Amino acid sequence: MLRAFVGAGAGVLLTACGGDDLDPFATDRTPTPPPARGGEQAQSQQQESQVQQAAAQTADQAAPPLELPDPLVYVIPSPASQGETVLLVIEAPGAATAAMSWQGQAFSLLRKDDRFLGFFGIDANAPVGPQSLGVAVWGPRGEQLLWQETVIEITAVEWTVDNIQIDGPNAALLEPTIRREDESTRLPYQSKLTPQLHWLGVFDPPAGGQITALYGEQRSFNGGPIAEYHTGIDFGGETGSSVVAANSGIVSWAGRTRRRGNGIILDHGAGVFSGYYHLSEVLQNAGTVVEQGDLIARMGATGLATGPHLHWEVVVRGVTVNPLPWLRLLEFPDPLQELNPANALTSTNLAKS
Ligand SMILES: [Zn+2]
Repeated sequence: MLRAFVGAGAGVLLTACGGDDLDPFATDRTPTPPPARGGEQAQSQQQESQVQQAAAQTADQAAPPLELPDPLVYVIPSPASQGETVLLVIEAPGAATAAMSWQGQAFSLLRKDDRFLGFFGIDANAPVGPQSLGVAVWGPRGEQLLWQETVIEITAVEWTVDNIQIDGPNAALLEPTIRREDESTRLPYQSKLTPQLHWLGVFDPPAGGQITALYGEQRSFNGGPIAEYHTGIDFGGETGSSVVAANSGIVSWAGRTRRRGNGIILDHGAGVFSGYYHLSEVLQNAGTVVEQGDLIARMGATGLATGPHLHWEVVVRGVTVNPLPWLRLLEFPDPLQELNPANALTSTNLAKS
């Protein structure tokens, strides 16, 4: 049973707590009737529920239920591997809101014409095996059109292991407390949901150099145990060379941490962010709207870097994912792609109210 949805039908489903009595997956849950209208609010408490029932009946008589097509649910890709971005698409013409539940968190979905879209990320070291995904769709009068629980298989990736030697003053930056400090500084700027798609189409490489390190690489430092994985990809280059916006968005954060050096985070909307680090110079301020290809920074070696390079990462709903699909070096999670209804999930517990 999934317990993550709250405030069913309200379309604001971003917290991960409580709300069991509103759980759309509860089999005994009945649809909420439409709220009573203006003049009826003057009625006494005792009469209120009767009035609401009457109002609901009146509304039913005045406007018969819309005949909406059954929503079609797509999970792309499924199965998904560690480090992958998963795209949930629900084709639901006429529906008003939709939400998904994943690993104890509920997310509202973004509406794009007749589609609802949700991106979520699988961590490079996420547990493998079956994971439950819940989806729910509500109609224009708050009526529930669909709830569905499905299983996504998460498959393992054999990441490479690399031992990195860090000497001199930079060795002090390996302290876990410094890494946590860095993460907590950046987290609020790359885990919110901006309910628009600011980008269109595939992302561009943010720098001209060769890729020198891949996502997911398991790293040990100075011969120690594996301490972390590489959360992005590195582009080699020279200090001062151009770093451009991989796609359109809004500057969410521009600043400096001890570990990452100078950095900038772009919010592309729909919970998708890109981050650029170890910069010699940041050229845009927080809040600035940037277009794909705009110059945003210059490459450098600030923070924990063994030489000038750009560390570039993509964060989806707070999880760092493999950026290569976003560059279409692997399958791009295109939210506008054509979908074949034959590939929609078949449901075992689909319900129409
Ligand atoms: Zn890196």
